[in-house]
Amino acid sequence: MSKCRHLLIVLGDQLNLDSALYDEQSPADDLVWMAELPHESIKVWSHKARIVTFLSGMRHFAETLRSASWRVDYLGLGQHPYEGFGEALNHAIKSHQPERVRVVEPGEWNVRQTIASACEARDTPLDIIEDRHFLTTTAMFDEYADGRKNWTMEHFYRLARQRSGYLMNDGKPTGGQWNYDKKNRITFGRQGPGMLVQPRAFPPDRITRSVIELVQQTFPSHPGSLDAFDWPVTREEALLALEDFEEHRLAAFGDYQDAMWTEEPWLYHSRLSAAMNLKLLDPREVIASAIDAYECGHAPLNAVEGFVRQILGWREYVRHLYFRTMPDLLEHNALEAHESLPEFFWNAQTDMHCLRQSLAQTLDCGYAHHIQRLMVIGLFAQLLGVRPKEIHEWFLAVYVDAVEWVEAPNTLGMSQYADGGILGTKPYVASGKYIERMSNYCEDCPYKPSQKTGANACPYTVLYWDFLIRHQARFRHHPRTALQWKNLDRLSEEEQNTISENAKRLRERFKGKTQAVTSNA
Ligand code: FAD
Ligand code: SF4
Repeated sequence: MSKCRHLLIVLGDQLNLDSALYDEQSPADDLVWMAELPHESIKVWSHKARIVTFLSGMRHFAETLRSASWRVDYLGLGQHPYEGFGEALNHAIKSHQPERVRVVEPGEWNVRQTIASACEARDTPLDIIEDRHFLTTTAMFDEYADGRKNWTMEHFYRLARQRSGYLMNDGKPTGGQWNYDKKNRITFGRQGPGMLVQPRAFPPDRITRSVIELVQQTFPSHPGSLDAFDWPVTREEALLALEDFEEHRLAAFGDYQDAMWTEEPWLYHSRLSAAMNLKLLDPREVIASAIDAYECGHAPLNAVEGFVRQILGWREYVRHLYFRTMPDLLEHNALEAHESLPEFFWNAQTDMHCLRQSLAQTLDCGYAHHIQRLMVIGLFAQLLGVRPKEIHEWFLAVYVDAVEWVEAPNTLGMSQYADGGILGTKPYVASGKYIERMSNYCEDCPYKPSQKTGANACPYTVLYWDFLIRHQARFRHHPRTALQWKNLDRLSEEEQNTISENAKRLRERFKGKTQAVTSNA
């Protein structure tokens, strides 16, 4: 391909035409470069649906660019000899000889380094452009974080509300409170959620079908199924998915945000994370339409505030934490966890019903909602004591929305406490009784959530008490955890010894084996 003035790199999660990448650039002089690289799908053992979402999103976006007169040098999977990003970029710079390379801040720390090295090796200047997809800037986070002892999401969120003006009236939070979380922990009760409107599906079009075929052929042994692939992969589809959420699910999003139910993967969640992470949707338009729904009486404040907090609060906050703590973040192991990940994480073959449900839907469709990720899957790994890097790689592999800037802080910080308390001030640990309260999973399980010893003891409950025993030196006097650890005093030394023994046996049993758990702990 011909020479160009600027080489504009578009990564798989930068599929927005209003990106600052194109400011003051011209289709006549500048060239867009996009590449599908095998290494991106195999560096973690990616779910097939995750690969399809990214590749199909990229191919559709390349069409959009071409329709807007951009020249696109697109390296399709299997149509070029490169494995990794650096190699392919090095070759692109050599063949197009650009005066400069431009890229919007990559969402993955290593990719930033790889691009910088490739440009340096070719002696070509690189412009890294701030990503205006996000609502808050690094400067704002630095202003918030510098000099503070604890970086809590809640304080950052309040600042972001004040700065953005979202859900604010005369400098005060709409409704008088910053946060309506206390209202957002309702469970479905015995009757269950009743009839739910299923989220709008997006059947694969010609491009997606060809990507599905390619992925089946190229990565046949990768986890996950493509039988029911229906994720939005274009901006038009993403806008329809947003409309669908606001019409059918937003109003109850707050109330049932933490609830879980057998065979109901979506409940009232938005399913918008992948579309936002690929930048098919702008978080401003997502927040604005939720606030519109509140203002016209279509959704209550607790639902809308709860939803806005996830996006303006959590999503922005974890991104800043990621860049502030990388590359060390991936190496932390504050709780010295050294177990390997049980094999049933890859095939859902376990008789623990909560885990079987959450893992099976993850493998079927590349999705689990937040509480399933945090309080079923992540919790189990943490209680078992799985090596943080291993569970991080699993979370990065199996969800269609997985990108490292959002996955790593959630997994290593919020879920595993591997960062020693940078993200969360305490470990999110609970026994099986939490899962029993928030779902109906325990009704169909051979274990009893309230039992910590005996043949039917719930593995979560055994491992929870064992966690308290193992980590008491660290948390017993911690102001936010002392109460939880004080409960240990109610157990006799003999009971504690039995729990530790049973937990040890569970660990032996789960060790890297595909299995149905037949605990007699
Ligand atoms: P909803 O429940 O409808 O929430 C609305 C939106 O808020 C989401 O689409 C998402 O953009 C944002 N959001 C909600 N919670 C968080 C959060 N904790 N951090 C950042 N944004 C949030 N989210 C990802 O996008 N990619 C990941 O790889 C990812 N990995 C996670 C790993 C673990 C261990 C945990 C506990 C959470 C992870 N999350 C991740 C956050 C969250 O679970 C998902 O964003 C959410 O489940 C996506 O489903 P949804 O779109 O239906 O979200
Ligand atoms: Fe999960 Fe324990 Fe409940 Fe079974 S009893 S579903 S293992 S929490």
